[in-house]
Amino acid sequence: MKKIILFLFCILFFSSPSFAKLKVVTTTPDLANLAQEVGKEFIEVKSIARGDQDYHFLEPKPSYIVQASQADLLISVGLELEVGWLPVLLTQSRNPKIQTSEKGFLDASQNIPVMEIPTARVDRSMGDVHPLGNPHYWLNPNNGILIAQAIAQRLSELDSAHASDYNQNFLNFKNQLSAKIANWQKQLANLKGKKIITQHKSFSYFTDWTGLQVSGFVEPKPGIPPNPGHLLELIALIQKEKVPLIVTENYYDTKAAQELSQKTGSKLLILPTSVGGEANIKNYSDLFENLISKINEALK
Ligand SMILES: [Zn+2]
Repeated sequence: MKKIILFLFCILFFSSPSFAKLKVVTTTPDLANLAQEVGKEFIEVKSIARGDQDYHFLEPKPSYIVQASQADLLISVGLELEVGWLPVLLTQSRNPKIQTSEKGFLDASQNIPVMEIPTARVDRSMGDVHPLGNPHYWLNPNNGILIAQAIAQRLSELDSAHASDYNQNFLNFKNQLSAKIANWQKQLANLKGKKIITQHKSFSYFTDWTGLQVSGFVEPKPGIPPNPGHLLELIALIQKEKVPLIVTENYYDTKAAQELSQKTGSKLLILPTSVGGEANIKNYSDLFENLISKINEALK
C-alpha cells in the first residue's frame, strides 16, 4: 500500500506545473538550436520557420498560432526580419505572456553590433526590408555567443530555480563554440580578400567575419527582385573585377544568378543560411562547417 501511495505521490508531484518544462517558441531554427544549447532538459523548444525559408516573407499558418498560444517565451531575430508576419501572430495567439512588452518576449538582437544601419530613412514601402540595419546577424558565430547569452539571461529570469544551470550551459556552449571559431579562423585564411556577389544581403555578417569581399548583390535593394538593367551592370562589374564566385541563398529562384554565372564564367554556389537549411545541418556549428567547406572548395 505504501508503495502505491508513494507512486501516486510521484505522479502528482512530477506532473505538477512547477515541474513542467518551459515552452520556448522561436521564429527561426538557429534561435531554437541556441535556446536548446542553454535550456537543455529544462525547456521544450520549437521553431516556427524551417531553415530553408525566407524569414522576411513567411506565409502565416494556423499551426504557428497554436504554437505561439502555448509558449512561455517567444524569441525573435528582430530588426524587422519578421515584421511581415510576427506582429499578427502575436495578436492572434491571444497569449499575454509573449507580447513584446513582457518578459516572455525576447528580441535576440538586443546586444548585437548591428551592421548596415541606414543613414537616411528607409522603410518597407520603398522596398528595402532592412530599415533598422541588417537582421542576418546569426551568420557570424561570435554573434551566436551573444544570442545564447541573452537567451540564458532570460531563461534565468523566467525560471530562477534553474538559473545556475542556464548560466553553466551557456558557459559550456561559449567555450565549445569559441574553440571551433579559433579552428575555423585557420580554414578562412584562404578566403580573405576574395571577391563574391551575393543574391540578398544575407551574408554581410559572414563576409565581415571571414574577410570575403562583397562586390555586389543580385538584388538591386534588399527584398527587390533583380531586373535586366541591374543584371547587365553586374555582368560588367563581375568581368571588370574578375569576381570568381556568385552566391545565392537556397530559398531563392536561382534564375538570375544562373544567368550571371553563365554569362561571366563566375562559379555559382547555392548556400543554406540556417540550421536545417540542408538535411545535414543539425546545429549552429554544422551551419558554419557547411558554409566554410563549400566556399573554400569553390574558391580553391
Ligand atoms: Zn534580409
